[in-house]
Amino acid sequence: MEHLFSYYTQVIFLSFIIINHLFEVYLSRRQVTALERHRTEVPQEFASNISLADHQRAIAYATAKLRLGQWKLFWEAGLLLYWFPLRGAEKLYVALPFVDLHKEVAFLIAFTAVQMLINLPWAIYGTFVLEERFGFNRLTPRLFIIDRLKGLALGALFGIPLLYTLFYIFVTTGPWWWVVAFLVLTGFQLFLVWLYPTVIAPLFNKFTPLEGEELKDKIEALVQRAGFNAREVFVMDASRRSSHGNAYFTGFGKTKRVVFFDTLLRDLKVGEVLAILAHELGHMKLRHIPKSLITSLMLSFLGFWLMGTLAQQNWFYAGHFIRAVSPGVLFLLFSQALSVYTFWPTPLGAWISRRREFEADAFAAKEARPEDLISGLLKLYRENASPVVTDRLYSHFYHSHPPALERIRRLELFIKGETRKGLP
Ligand SMILES: [Zn+2]
Repeated sequence: MEHLFSYYTQVIFLSFIIINHLFEVYLSRRQVTALERHRTEVPQEFASNISLADHQRAIAYATAKLRLGQWKLFWEAGLLLYWFPLRGAEKLYVALPFVDLHKEVAFLIAFTAVQMLINLPWAIYGTFVLEERFGFNRLTPRLFIIDRLKGLALGALFGIPLLYTLFYIFVTTGPWWWVVAFLVLTGFQLFLVWLYPTVIAPLFNKFTPLEGEELKDKIEALVQRAGFNAREVFVMDASRRSSHGNAYFTGFGKTKRVVFFDTLLRDLKVGEVLAILAHELGHMKLRHIPKSLITSLMLSFLGFWLMGTLAQQNWFYAGHFIRAVSPGVLFLLFSQALSVYTFWPTPLGAWISRRREFEADAFAAKEARPEDLISGLLKLYRENASPVVTDRLYSHFYHSHPPALERIRRLELFIKGETRKGLP
């Protein structure tokens, strides 16, 4: 019976790897086709803001990324096949000359290190060839290496003690270990979210308060009206690494803040900065960070419960092609192998995220001028060479932001005064 179970799991797992891969390539090709179809003409709604040359550059850039992405999908499917069905992970586990908890920790470190090394060429190519070709890259090889080393050091500093703690809990706590492990990991994650804006992000970038003669008063008025503190608005020197522009909100409690990329500010008029700031403040006002934290905590609880249930089931390990029953293997399976099953609900998460963008837009339309948000957004699209057209199915799966056209149509309703909440 046990044997039959693991056999069926193997068949299902293997089928998922292959089906997911084919489906993702299919989505990517659909997107390439949709972009090609619009190559000769800027959609009418954007014609006054985006030139044909900018439009075609955006399509060429997106297509180049998609084509690289297709090779990467192929590579990643190959890796999954290597690690699991071809038993690469099992061989790695057996080969490590450690015992007890050290072996479990070493296994996850070794796996992560190998993955990072063999994926490095993709990052190098993406940055120094693709981004470079389209004029976005500002990273020097030196800074690229320094960034990686800092990332590694942080990963080791936080990751290794965390792994020891989790495995210690696993072997000492009995059948309810997963509840304790969940609580410890949750506390740790909250700590990181809180720490990130003020301690971790500044290791990579400089943050200065957003200032400027004309801007300052208006920003202060807007920020106070929305119930925040003007000291929570920062500019980040993103131009050190790339000329892509953006803005984001992060942290909670005392560390929450809105961050503008300096690359974005250069291109925007005062009104557009205010409108985009209002959008980000909308995310904070509508509590989007705590809401996503709660969702991810519930999912994580479910994951730990499942871990607790499957931890001693031999068929589960054998079903994913590793015969060793150990906490390190269990964590690896949950962090790597099981993503093939969780791929399918991803459109749901993307849908929630797109709804929140609409909510933040609606907030911005009330606190600032919707016309300014539209022109600011279109500048973002243009400067980042993001195409304003997309394939619908592709967008449903991958896009955390609604298609440009939908966002702008809703904002136009505000201008005409035809909606109360941005939901026509
Ligand atoms: Zn947003």
